[in-house]
Amino acid sequence: MSETVTAKAAKAAHYSFFEGVERNFDKAATHTRFEKGILEQIKACNSVLRMKFPVRIGDKIEVVEAYRVQHSHHKLPCKGGIRYSMDVNQDEVMALAALMTYKCAIVNVPFGGAKGGIRINPKNYTPFELEKITRRYASELVKKNFIGPGIDVPAPDYGTGAREMSWIADTYASLRPGEIDALGCVTGKPVSQGGVRGRTEATGLGVFYGVRELCNTADDMKKLGLPTGVEGKKVIVQGLGNVGYHAAKFFYEAGSLIVGLAEYEGGIYNENGLDLEAVVAHRKATGSILNFPGATNINNSLETLEQPCDILIPAALENVINASNADRIQARIIGEGANGPLTPEADEILLAKGVIIVPDMYLNAGGVTVSYFEWLKNLSHVRFGRMDKRFSENQNNAILNSVEALTGKKVTDIERRQLLHGPDEVDLVYSGLEDTMIGSYHEIREAMLKHNMTDMRTAAFIVAIDKVGVAYEELGIFP
Ligand code: GLU
Repeated sequence: MSETVTAKAAKAAHYSFFEGVERNFDKAATHTRFEKGILEQIKACNSVLRMKFPVRIGDKIEVVEAYRVQHSHHKLPCKGGIRYSMDVNQDEVMALAALMTYKCAIVNVPFGGAKGGIRINPKNYTPFELEKITRRYASELVKKNFIGPGIDVPAPDYGTGAREMSWIADTYASLRPGEIDALGCVTGKPVSQGGVRGRTEATGLGVFYGVRELCNTADDMKKLGLPTGVEGKKVIVQGLGNVGYHAAKFFYEAGSLIVGLAEYEGGIYNENGLDLEAVVAHRKATGSILNFPGATNINNSLETLEQPCDILIPAALENVINASNADRIQARIIGEGANGPLTPEADEILLAKGVIIVPDMYLNAGGVTVSYFEWLKNLSHVRFGRMDKRFSENQNNAILNSVEALTGKKVTDIERRQLLHGPDEVDLVYSGLEDTMIGSYHEIREAMLKHNMTDMRTAAFIVAIDKVGVAYEELGIFP
């Protein structure tokens, strides 16, 4: 997301993005027990590094502006992505770093929040030039002690991916020869460079797990007048990027009907459900989502969001549901895959209509959760499942053989394979993510019930403040 809704709303209201985050914080803080000093410390950005460095691009020298902000040191290392965008500025990076602190707290990832940014449009540079910029940025971080497996661990964000993380890891390792945990200095790396299986789809999968838990909670569904479970529910997804595509895929596999899909060029709708992979193949072949056989075209992409459905997943741009269209949204559940897809006005309109809005700060935390698993893998220097996979399979085999001997019956070959299967890395990553998303959903839900509120966003902030506040209290404050 180049600029979140909070940033835009903040500008319109003449306060900065960071101040906007502080306002949300203040709203929730009134429901917590912490004294003013603790709340002030939680809110503050602890360290801000602004860099300007020269990079030779073609026959010219460009001065590149970049940042790394560590919002909170209540737990170490700090954690958060690095974005490459022309919208990067100090206030934006500070706000996004603050949001990382709260995001990590909500999903019980034991890190402080951070964020980095380089003010460039990556599309204007060759891979070689991007590598030079990235490596220079990484070496600036090393120079100032702003990166390291126990200090601050960057990750991908808007405009960056596994390739950039691999350059950062290599730069760090070459400047810190012999540091045994060097690979833990950054996450979101390719699997061949110490990355973890499941990181690519983690955010979309987290979106699915979070919404599925809401749908599995009978009392919440009763309030909406919907049956429990995601099976058969009608889903519209906006954005077929990494988050939207994977979220749609997991809903599809769970038996939901993907009735609508929206992309830049327009949207498509079919109340009987769309075949996701066929749509993706169609878009690849024709260059457009439109004219998919059996579906109705929606030329104005945004109108796709207004079609009938149970669940709407905006996973593309910020600000897409606002005062001008919120009234026409028919979904009963909105799951924020993107950062800030709803404006505060839209929030109010939809909450008044009884819609459940699952907030970004919780729902898209799957990425940082699996980053945490990657960091653990790097520190332990062993792939998840390496020690126990075969052991589990041998145990399962022995149990099954005994059961078959005792009953005199045999399971089928397919059943045998399923029952014997010991966990691979990806199985463990998925199960850790699933457990995290389910546990955090209920923590937020309990806060909603306790404070008698329907606003899940404020409840999520309360949960985060409670955890960070306790950590500060237990850390002790220096005299
Ligand atoms: N950039 C992602 C986020 O904002 C992931 C951060 C991470 O994995 O550290 O949540």
